[in-house]
Amino acid sequence: MASLFGHALTSVAIGSSFPKNIQDWKFWLLGMFCSIIPDADVISFKLGIAYQDFWGHRGFTHSFLFAFILGVFITVLFYRKNLISRKGIMYIMFFTLCTASHSILDAMTTGGLGVAFFSPFDNSRYFFPWRPIKVSPIGVSNFFSEWGKRVLVSELIWIGIPSLVYIYSSKLIRRYKSVK
Ligand SMILES: [Zn+2]
Repeated sequence: MASLFGHALTSVAIGSSFPKNIQDWKFWLLGMFCSIIPDADVISFKLGIAYQDFWGHRGFTHSFLFAFILGVFITVLFYRKNLISRKGIMYIMFFTLCTASHSILDAMTTGGLGVAFFSPFDNSRYFFPWRPIKVSPIGVSNFFSEWGKRVLVSELIWIGIPSLVYIYSSKLIRRYKSVK
């Protein structure tokens, strides 16, 4: 994983380019939730499931199919009234993207096994050829260490700066459109 901060910030960046009229507090909170939840699979280590297994870390919960299912599920659960409308599609898209962003960041980290993007159809693990983000330690106590510090610095550069640029550009584009 990248750290919780890296994942959550990415969801905020993605959200910033969505229409203002769908952005309520649930939208932001649930977006962050989606961007973090794939790592609930670390419980598999405690259950004795091997890393490379279907339910192992970075397995099915890190796949695109899971991202889509979660996107639909969260929308049905929290925005049922909007489900059959343009807004509903936006919500599904947003929550799916937030969840998938988690796996994409993971595939850019330096450690562990790759991500099972195409599970359950193909359980191979993938990394991107370019992996600038330092892998984050698992567990809070490990995070407050020299390792944790290095992770935050690498995320500040590779997630923080691009996210802020993205958020700022979305704002500019929005302003430009409203002026036109
Ligand atoms: Zn992960």
